[in-house]
Amino acid sequence: AAKDHGRGCFHFFTKALQEASEFRAHLASDLRHALELRQLEVYYQPIIELNSGEIHKAEALLRWKHPAHGCISPSDFIPIAEDSGMIHEIGDWVFMQAVQQVRQWQTVWGETFQISVNMSPAQFIGEKNNHRHWLDKMQELHLLQNSIVIEITERLLVSEDAKIMDKLLNFRDVGIEIAIDDFGTGYSSLAYLKKFDIDYLKIDQSFTKNLAPDSSDLVLCEAIVVMAHKLGLKVIAEGVETQEQHNLLHSIRCDYGQGYLYFKPVPAGEFESLFIKRTCKD
Ligand code: C2E
Ligand code: MG
Ligand code: MG
Ligand code: MG
Repeated sequence: AAKDHGRGCFHFFTKALQEASEFRAHLASDLRHALELRQLEVYYQPIIELNSGEIHKAEALLRWKHPAHGCISPSDFIPIAEDSGMIHEIGDWVFMQAVQQVRQWQTVWGETFQISVNMSPAQFIGEKNNHRHWLDKMQELHLLQNSIVIEITERLLVSEDAKIMDKLLNFRDVGIEIAIDDFGTGYSSLAYLKKFDIDYLKIDQSFTKNLAPDSSDLVLCEAIVVMAHKLGLKVIAEGVETQEQHNLLHSIRCDYGQGYLYFKPVPAGEFESLFIKRTCKD
């Protein structure tokens, strides 16, 4: 029992923390079986070309349907997968899903269709990686160049670790494109942009959220677009939720938008039907 109010509060606080860490451990142990129990599913969110309104890209976003706790967000379980090392097995599975999916969708919507896959820094670090195996799979499926984009964060490039760079170069060599996810929220150094061959900058949703005429976020977004274009990169704005954000992004020549205004992430089957509906509408 708590001896005084101060300790009482402290005790209460540690108990909550302990429960949180117990819950985390409980989720980690469930996550171990999530793949074999088929509780994981890859959703896809369309990426819209702002000029034409066309869709030639989608981002793969992982979902965990937990039998007791419902749908758990990747922001909650990816860190657990990273800490426990399960990210390798899970990341491998997501990648395999994405390459097979893109192959299938290219036969329907043309060979320029692309899927982007998120990758944790942990998947680049250490000896364990399935990258060789991925490249083999891409060859086996006769995937064309530029079918897959991997999304990494600035953090990974700032490290300048030679092994990480080798892995990135391997990807480039087989025609995988590279996007910087959550651009603008990581490190302030932009030096990596001239050292590495990057294809896309994804403007973080924290910038998109408050876009308004005369806002400082609009100035920042425009500066990002101008810089990116001069360096030969394309820009994707994340988290586009309103028509006004869309109009502003279009006015500053942002290339692509992704967000609830257009579509939420959906299962592969649903993606196909929304795509067909949209094409019929036009
Ligand atoms: P992210 O890569 O930055 O993905 C964008 C997130 O924004 C997704 O959250 C997406 O559902 C959400 N989003 C899309 N449009 C809107 C919008 O208009 N408004 C708002 N508020 N949100 C929007 P999600 O699916 O919960 O994923 C969260 C993060 O988890 C991802 O952020 C990514 O970092 C990570 N993640 C997801 N799938 C994977 C995966 O397969 N592997 C790895 N390593 N990380 C993943
Ligand atoms: Mg992403
Ligand atoms: Mg992002
Ligand atoms: Mg992210």
